[in-house]
Amino acid sequence: MTRSQTGFPKGQEKSGLFNVEKIRADFPILNRKVQGNSLVYLDSAATSQKPIQVIQALQDYYQTCNANVHRGVHTLSQEATNLYEASREKTQAFINAERSEEIIFVRSTTEALNLLAHSYVMELLEPGDEIAVSEMEHHSNIVPWQLICQKRSARLAVVPITDTGEIDLQELDQILKRQPKILTLAHVSNALGTVNPVKEIVKMAHARGVKVCIDGAQGIPHLPVDVQDMGCDFYCFSGHKAFGPTGVGILYGRLEVLEKLSPYQGGGEMILSVTFEKSTYNELPFRLEAGTPNIAGVIGLGASVDYLNQLDFSALAAYEDTLLEYATVQLLGIEGLRVIGNASSKVGVLSFVMDNVHPHDIGTILDQKGIAIRTGHHCAQPVMDRFKIPATARASIAFYNTKEEIDKLCEALQEVYRIFN
Ligand code: PMP
Repeated sequence: MTRSQTGFPKGQEKSGLFNVEKIRADFPILNRKVQGNSLVYLDSAATSQKPIQVIQALQDYYQTCNANVHRGVHTLSQEATNLYEASREKTQAFINAERSEEIIFVRSTTEALNLLAHSYVMELLEPGDEIAVSEMEHHSNIVPWQLICQKRSARLAVVPITDTGEIDLQELDQILKRQPKILTLAHVSNALGTVNPVKEIVKMAHARGVKVCIDGAQGIPHLPVDVQDMGCDFYCFSGHKAFGPTGVGILYGRLEVLEKLSPYQGGGEMILSVTFEKSTYNELPFRLEAGTPNIAGVIGLGASVDYLNQLDFSALAAYEDTLLEYATVQLLGIEGLRVIGNASSKVGVLSFVMDNVHPHDIGTILDQKGIAIRTGHHCAQPVMDRFKIPATARASIAFYNTKEEIDKLCEALQEVYRIFN
């Protein structure tokens, strides 16, 4: 059903294969109390919690080698630069990009998509052109494209989704035939949990000569990503959803296409020379990284990559799958509850609605029990429109969650139903 084919029997998650208690010990926040109860954190799709190794890397940087990068000849600056550039190489290896210059550090997925829209796609757009997005996109992967469409009298072509919350591949191909300037699509939907068949979609798009950007904000925390195997032209994600710090993310681009991006912001670092008549620009990746970057954040991102690399990814994937399956079955057993998004391939996200209860009320009552979920439209209003609902409650899981936490969630939801019905 989900990303790994293998589950494993009850109890085995505490064996050598995947020791969730050992993992939880790395996340100090999971020990805290909320409203007098042990925290049950089920909002990792909004932001993940951070392991001590990431927190420590941020502190170490500020305590031992805080300095600006790239420009200094002194020791601190060289140490900071080495750590900063090491993070680029770690990220390159993590997503299997061919070259480190293909990794551009940005603030977030949102900034990566805006950068791509303004520095590349806008320059290609003629009046009447199309940009293809899907109906399941996060607002971050809709609004930047709308902004440039407005400037160029172009328009969005929206790939519909099915009742189960999957991309309609036939409709997609119809849109690709019209040769939009780019197809931009989530790897995993933050509102539905759907894992899109991105490799197949990239093949379809390339067969029609259409470039593809994958919004990996929800993919990277759950799935192994190999951008060369996927074949996408661009991939982006935010560090904070992948156990790293806030304020840092990446735009990956295949060098051949990335070279076509014009400078996004002007400032230090991105230039070779400046006179009042004319400036010349630095090479990649620096040309697209104007000004002092989020040095600590980038170093912290490197630490989160190190952290993920030392985990057994297939055991972790199997564990998350078992947890998602368990949660799905338990939720479906609750009276009056309907799960939104039933794709055959899903990770991490359970969106649901309950008869006669507004999602915000569910969220508020659960908070009193120390259970953190998200309620609302999840910055995906078109998804809500598609399913004719104003909002959902969303429990999102990460590898540090447990079956016991799912049980607490379900018990609390049963109580919510009783209160309102
Ligand atoms: N795309 C998806 C699929 C997301 O889930 C999110 C965050 N919820 C974003 C983009 C935007 O990420 P950020 O706010 O970190 O830029």
